[in-house]
Amino acid sequence: MQIKEQLKQLKPYQPGKPIEEVKKEFNLDQVVKLASNENPFGCSEAAKEALQTEVQQMALYPDGYSAALRTKLAGHLGVSETNIILGNGTDEVIQILSRSLLDAGTNTVMANPTFSQYKHNAVIEGAQVREVGLVEDGCHDLDAMLEAIDDKTKIVWVCSPNNPTGTYEPEQKLIGFLEKVPEHVLVVVDEAYYEYVTAEDYPETIPLLKRFPNLMILRTFSKAYGLAALRVGYGIASEELVRSIEPARQPFNTNRLGQAAALAALGDQAFIEECVRKNREGLKQYYDFCNGHGLDYYPSQTNFVLIDLKRDADELFQALLEKGYITRSGNALGFPGHLRVSVGTKEQNEGFLKTLAGILL
Ligand SMILES: *Cc1c(COP(=O)(O)O)cnc(C)c1O
Repeated sequence: MQIKEQLKQLKPYQPGKPIEEVKKEFNLDQVVKLASNENPFGCSEAAKEALQTEVQQMALYPDGYSAALRTKLAGHLGVSETNIILGNGTDEVIQILSRSLLDAGTNTVMANPTFSQYKHNAVIEGAQVREVGLVEDGCHDLDAMLEAIDDKTKIVWVCSPNNPTGTYEPEQKLIGFLEKVPEHVLVVVDEAYYEYVTAEDYPETIPLLKRFPNLMILRTFSKAYGLAALRVGYGIASEELVRSIEPARQPFNTNRLGQAAALAALGDQAFIEECVRKNREGLKQYYDFCNGHGLDYYPSQTNFVLIDLKRDADELFQALLEKGYITRSGNALGFPGHLRVSVGTKEQNEGFLKTLAGILL
């Protein structure tokens, strides 16, 4: 057997540790997971109700076109149904794009550090990966990314807000970038945290699709909508672009439960608004703590915050784990000495920060 050469340099994705595993390992009753930017308030009650009904239909394949969800989503976004590609999480849309555009002899441009899946999929396809370091404030160096583009470049990835920094690309900067990217290059703007953003100069990218046919926007039901387990994400782009990559999509990629829950969740925007409000309050708990302890952090437009703790992040991660808090060590995310912490409920944040203070002393 001969596995593709490039797979040898890759490791399977290292997810945040599961709660049950940590409970057992350290003999803890209470474990709080602040590692994967999940919604600490769960999901809309309407989504849970929709699941109760849908669970009666498990023997039947889902609608491969996700017609009902697609219609609802198109209405919500103000686009046509044909502007949407649904995926088994945004992760799958990233995979579909990579399969569709990248192979040996091509290259792809992205920030570093950024979301790991752009590089991972590009490596599997055998494409050259051109990583451009973030600038000091945690934002993309869009000018340097432009310079990295050549006639072999197929995809440029812009993660805004960026994971793991939580920082975003302001409207004028992004538009200026889109104006300069050559037409043969697809620009993917990953907006997994879109719903959480409150910055006034964060761009509304959907209206830009008319001007830039080489733009695709990615969003997900995994973060603010609280449906990470059900794996529903999507891309929004020109009808032509969507149609051209559809053959690389698995026929039944989004499942029945995911479609039903996502549809119902879209109808409950009050839940999203409430979560966003509580998230801002939660972020403030972290900022106050950092300011009080003289710690640097990246101002976040998401439900996580990257804190510079100026010490071995793996050791700190381990110490927190033993006390029942699962976080992400910056060492694995390209930020040594930092910790990425998801914003939890008010009580979870209080408990975490108290524990962190105890360890830092
Ligand atoms: C969480 C996340 C995703 C993946 O979301 P899924 O829809 O659950 O696959 C994509 N991009 C970024 C930046 C993320 O943080």
